[in-house]
Amino acid sequence: MDTLRPKPPASAGILLTYRCTCECKHCMYACSPRMPNDWIDEAGLLKVLKELAPSIVPSSPRGRVGVNEGLHFTGGEPFLNYPLLKRAVRLAEGLGYPSVFVETNCFWCLSEEIAIEKFNELRETGLEGVLLSVNPFLIENIPLERVENGITAAVEVFNPQNVLVYHTLYLTLLRKLSVRGTLRFEEYLEKAARVDPYLFLRGFDPSLLLPMGRLVYTLRKLYKTKPAKEFFKTSCAEELTRPWHVHVDCYYNYIPGYCAGLSLGDARKLKELLQGVNLDDKPVLAALRNSLGDLYKLAVGGYGYKEREEGYISRCHFCLDIRLHLALEVGGFTELQPSCFYKSILETTVKGVTE
Ligand code: SF4
Ligand code: SF4
Repeated sequence: MDTLRPKPPASAGILLTYRCTCECKHCMYACSPRMPNDWIDEAGLLKVLKELAPSIVPSSPRGRVGVNEGLHFTGGEPFLNYPLLKRAVRLAEGLGYPSVFVETNCFWCLSEEIAIEKFNELRETGLEGVLLSVNPFLIENIPLERVENGITAAVEVFNPQNVLVYHTLYLTLLRKLSVRGTLRFEEYLEKAARVDPYLFLRGFDPSLLLPMGRLVYTLRKLYKTKPAKEFFKTSCAEELTRPWHVHVDCYYNYIPGYCAGLSLGDARKLKELLQGVNLDDKPVLAALRNSLGDLYKLAVGGYGYKEREEGYISRCHFCLDIRLHLALEVGGFTELQPSCFYKSILETTVKGVTE
């Protein structure tokens, strides 16, 4: 049997849902208000947390949180279902989880008082910190004032070192632009490039803005592209087995790293997965483990995929474009989950063509 051996996860994020108030151009998980209103089931979540618990490591020093440490609850937007978020935090606390934080886009931070009240409740339930998303994509939908309310409240309630603003570079830039309310991305491009060209360019650095997920279609024109053959020799074995910042979604898919739309299996049976994921019936994962050239051969030779003449901005673009074809035009690949992710990406590409 051909198997893949993931390393025991040291840090993980749980996507409570794919549903979000926003539809950010860069969203890795293709979340949007149109995603199904599906949320992780509490009994299933408890199983997942029990499976993850033995290997998750705390931030150092203990009591701190970090993007690639401990456990975080995310989405989609977790605060769309605040009662579930609170129960999830309680479950994690009951199992003694270290370094637990939640990620939010602050849509609900209508005032500092509202934000302080909810953060206080969550802190008393066991939450140790918060990650507040800040970027020009989110600001198309969420007024910057709400994000500022969230930041002020979080600093008041939590250890300020446990308040992660992701990313401070964008916050600095948006403040420099004196944004009031929301801002269209096209306007951001025009203004930010003029006001601070250095920070503007840094904002597209792949270490900040990963060229994967929805972005590869929405922002393709801002990047240089390469033909498929440039990616043929790349293997994704490391990403597929890495121990840090893995994800589990609301359907219990165990997602390697940031590779949205790929599932190694049911996270409620993580112990079994860590013994080895059977690749005999998962040709996409088997190909990705070997090389993107193998994925290309599989898709072109076996399933009629056609290379994009305009090229690809990154290996993850190449990978996603092939997976999109396999998931929606062919079907039957158990490792390509969930289907709502691929449908949402398809909506983006259709929109991209008409824009
Ligand atoms: S706020 Fe976050 S989860 Fe929601 S669409 Fe934007 S990036 Fe995705
Ligand atoms: S190319 Fe595919 S498998 Fe590899 S890191 Fe990117 S999304 Fe993940």
